[in-house]
Amino acid sequence: MMEITCFGCRGSHVVSGPKFSAFGGHTTSYRILSPECETAFFVDAGTGICNAVLPDSIHKAVLFFTHTHLDHIVGFPFLPALQKKGFELTICGPVAAYGAGIKDIMTTLFAPAFFPVCWNEFPAHIRFFDFQDETQTIFDGTEIQAFRLPHSCTTLGCRLKIGNHTAAFCFDAELEALSADETEKIGRLIEGSDLLIADGTYTAEEYENGRRGFGHSAAETAAVFAERFFIKQLGISHHSPTADDNTLTAREQLLKKRFANLDLFFLREGMTVSLS
Ligand SMILES: [Zn+2]
Ligand SMILES: [Zn+2]
Repeated sequence: MMEITCFGCRGSHVVSGPKFSAFGGHTTSYRILSPECETAFFVDAGTGICNAVLPDSIHKAVLFFTHTHLDHIVGFPFLPALQKKGFELTICGPVAAYGAGIKDIMTTLFAPAFFPVCWNEFPAHIRFFDFQDETQTIFDGTEIQAFRLPHSCTTLGCRLKIGNHTAAFCFDAELEALSADETEKIGRLIEGSDLLIADGTYTAEEYENGRRGFGHSAAETAAVFAERFFIKQLGISHHSPTADDNTLTAREQLLKKRFANLDLFFLREGMTVSLS
């Protein structure tokens, strides 16, 4: 059993207002809970992470940063678990191309010019764990498999396996930029996953009209990939800040029609997907 809750699925920057109320305006933040695991998991800490509270019974969490663009990290100082005394938080993330590890990068966010509290002054205890491309490790029985994704800075996707269930996260990523070999390699790593949450920032038409090379995928590309590698459910995330509720609803309906054999949906803030 795995419960994946979306606390933010917007890309680039926050949006607000009645036109965005259905899909939400917070940037990328996901929480994964399982009764089979005493450790909670988070994937990215965009602005939505401030709402990602944990049950009182949980005293440990792993926060996996796919990459360190602002829309995926800026909520981190507001993660509720940071305020829990004795809470053990492990921060994972990729090593930047220039050599900086996740600790070097993330502690910069707590410099006095950006935030009034230093990273090691929170009630929670924080440690850091660098991920390389294809690092595979186990935290409290949960397997994490990383894989490199094409984006404008060093970016990792991941597959989480708890018990018999697997969920994969593939953002931010320009899947169109993968070579055939790279597509095959990533596909084999996440083949048959119960859930894939993937970057689908654009429509195919938008992508072809000036967005190639921007580091994000068309939702159609994510759907083709999910079909090819037998993904059981595909969730489209990282919605463009220019796409309002009507636009996203229309895109979702069109994609469902076009990929009728695929169980797909667009993520909405507050949505929980249960794998059981
Ligand atoms: Zn992003
Ligand atoms: Zn990014």
